[in-house]
Amino acid sequence: MTTHTGIIHHYIGGRVVEGVSGRHADVYNPALGEPCARVALASDEEVNAAVQAASAAFPAWSATPPLARARVLFKYLELCQQHTDDFAAMVTLEHGKTFSDAQGEVARGIEVVEFAVGIPHMLKGEFTDQIARGIDAWSMRQPLGVVAGITPFNFPVMVPMWMFPVAIACGNTFVLKPSERDPSASLLHARLLEEAGLPDGVFNVVQGDKAAVDAILDHPDIEAVSFVGSTPIAEHIYARGSARGKRVQALGGAKNHMVVMPDADMEMAVDALVGAAYGSAGERCMAISVAVAVGDAGDALVAKLAERTRALKIDDGAVAGAEMGPVVTLAAKQRIERLIGEGVEQGAELVVDGRGFKVPGRENGFFVGGTLFDHVQPSMSIYREEIFGPVLCVVRLPDIGSALALINRNEYGNGVAVFTRDGGVAREFVRQVQVGMVGVNVPLPVPRAFNSFGGWKKSLFGDHHAYGPEGVRFYTRHKAVMQRWPASGTGAASGGAEFAFPQMK
Ligand code: NAD
Repeated sequence: MTTHTGIIHHYIGGRVVEGVSGRHADVYNPALGEPCARVALASDEEVNAAVQAASAAFPAWSATPPLARARVLFKYLELCQQHTDDFAAMVTLEHGKTFSDAQGEVARGIEVVEFAVGIPHMLKGEFTDQIARGIDAWSMRQPLGVVAGITPFNFPVMVPMWMFPVAIACGNTFVLKPSERDPSASLLHARLLEEAGLPDGVFNVVQGDKAAVDAILDHPDIEAVSFVGSTPIAEHIYARGSARGKRVQALGGAKNHMVVMPDADMEMAVDALVGAAYGSAGERCMAISVAVAVGDAGDALVAKLAERTRALKIDDGAVAGAEMGPVVTLAAKQRIERLIGEGVEQGAELVVDGRGFKVPGRENGFFVGGTLFDHVQPSMSIYREEIFGPVLCVVRLPDIGSALALINRNEYGNGVAVFTRDGGVAREFVRQVQVGMVGVNVPLPVPRAFNSFGGWKKSLFGDHHAYGPEGVRFYTRHKAVMQRWPASGTGAASGGAEFAFPQMK
């Protein structure tokens, strides 16, 4: 369908389509710092073609019984399991994360399909017998129509799978606009869905950048948009999509804190911090980028963290045993290194400096070494900005109250964790923290597929979280029905015209 040396095209109406815009972008292998493919960039025309294909497929797909839709997804689930390593290899090549991390990403995406195959159960409405004399009432959920997904570079397999399996299971048809940085996985999804028996036009892919996104937001035949990416773009998507009357869920950026209390199991906390800060080179929306050391936890924590940060095994993600790969682009590397410089200038203590990190044989790769700052202040840019790189900031505070106040003042509210042995402290923390996903001695509390994922504040614009039951609500409309039949011996005869607002008697 596509190769890593060729051009990565669109997939519209069940066919790989070259597109007419003539615009392309390079796709890089970040470990080598070299292009490995080119991707087509759609214009209005390609988006239009995808929406037309999806609109044409909608009547038949939405009328297909939920169990029959689920059976297609069952087959796709099996195919995804068989192709896990193919997906993971694409992710490692174009994104840079380690192969084992990429396998984990694929597994978490597959879980959403495991949830979506239960859709007949999720779409069951509620029925009330005899809501009034001779009248029954029920609720049902119906699909929206054509829905679109716009996704970020950092989970090129999993984040699209937060969206389309649920959307399709609910009876919608789908247009995916994946990240132009690592687009290959989108076409493997398309091929496997086709092989699973999904009718043409139910799932479409338009490759592209802002031009494709804006065409999606403005298209009158797209009913809803799911977005995951950075906060400024999420705000743009939410404002422009809602202004065009669409249902929008736009998940944004993050600045996630992990509070370490003095009574925490320090080994456990350090293991958690190293994995959550440096895993995937910090390019996770749930990555921990701020460790809040409470009371006298700071000295022990920083000493252990420094040792572990210096020992990180950083390499091409395809090399066995690598713990961390490169960041995604040269621009990302330069931005992260600039922010590290600003941290030093603004007075934070740079304990481990990851700037200028080189991997032998991969000298042009976009590597940044693990970086650790101590004595970070909330006014510094390394605290305020989402760095989205392997940089961990330690903030020292005297007590849990000031830790909570700091976190609750932060403009983001995606994930947070507290490490402690004190159940009372943990309980109050969970209740008071203004963040959407909370871990107690769990650093990355990413909900499983049968719950739902989403942050608060500037980490999510819209009303619904992603996947799980919230995903089903997002991709369906609620309908309330009341029914009465002319009398056939049950006493439901018409009592004549009623001019007062009807009361149920
Ligand atoms: P991004 O916002 O740059 O891009 C996301 C998508 O928007 C891509 O498909 C891209 O093509 C498109 N886009 C980029 N610029 C645009 C513009 N000006 N107008 C319209 N569309 C545009 O994000 P990214 O760099 O790909 O991903 C990293 C970001 O995503 C981080 O901020 C991270 O926190 C966030 N993220 C959030 C979650 C979450 O669940 N909250 C999950 C993963 C990633």
